[in-house]
Amino acid sequence: MNNLKNQPPSIIALDGPAASGKTTVGRRLAETLGYLFFDTGIMYRAVTWIALDHDMDAGDEALITQMAQSAQIDIRPPSQNDGRACDVIIRGRDVTWDIRSGDVEAKVSAVSAYPGVRKALSEQQRRIGMRGKVVMVGRDIGTVVLPEADLKVYLDASAEERARRRYDELVERGKQADYEDLLKKMIERDRIDSTRAVAPLRPAEDAVVINTDELSEDQVYARVLEMCG
Ligand code: C5P
Repeated sequence: MNNLKNQPPSIIALDGPAASGKTTVGRRLAETLGYLFFDTGIMYRAVTWIALDHDMDAGDEALITQMAQSAQIDIRPPSQNDGRACDVIIRGRDVTWDIRSGDVEAKVSAVSAYPGVRKALSEQQRRIGMRGKVVMVGRDIGTVVLPEADLKVYLDASAEERARRRYDELVERGKQADYEDLLKKMIERDRIDSTRAVAPLRPAEDAVVINTDELSEDQVYARVLEMCG
């Protein structure tokens, strides 16, 4: 349902570090507006998963780049009600949860820093985003993928708060979790994502930055929705 008075922005870019709440807010927003929700992190995770599955050396930039250029990543509506937003299928295999594993998270930032990988994936993202009526979520959507976005939001939160959220999320899914370990890995992923040469994690100059440390999910969502109408 859409109670907005005015025409909402057509291209919405939602960026921020890991566990800043962008996926939850973005998904909800897309549902309300009747837009496509596109989580670009899935593509970087999928490429990393393929590299690990094929025992490729994640340090071999040429090899990983070549693979990323031809990788077939299928994103489909969810086939199961287990908390997933979509199915991620690679060569017929359901890898929806595999791409969220600790092994993938340990390597994804290194793989995402390769310029050739970014070029291959962000060109596809841009092609889809430019059709409009889209909420695209990532690290570089407002700065690189869709700089012409009608609305750019950058969600931020302290590493401690984000690690706590990730911890709660894992426990809720019945997984084992170690807060200190999550925090350490999150800080390292942020460091690599924000210091890479190409498309580093940072807010676009015209982005609205929201610090979500003291805000509930509903409050963040309400603020972003307000900007849409
Ligand atoms: O958002 P998510 O945590 O799933 O992203 C996983 C990783 O993919 C990030 O840590 C980052 O290295 C990479 N990524 C990126 N650019 C994007 C989306 C994700 O570099 N637009």
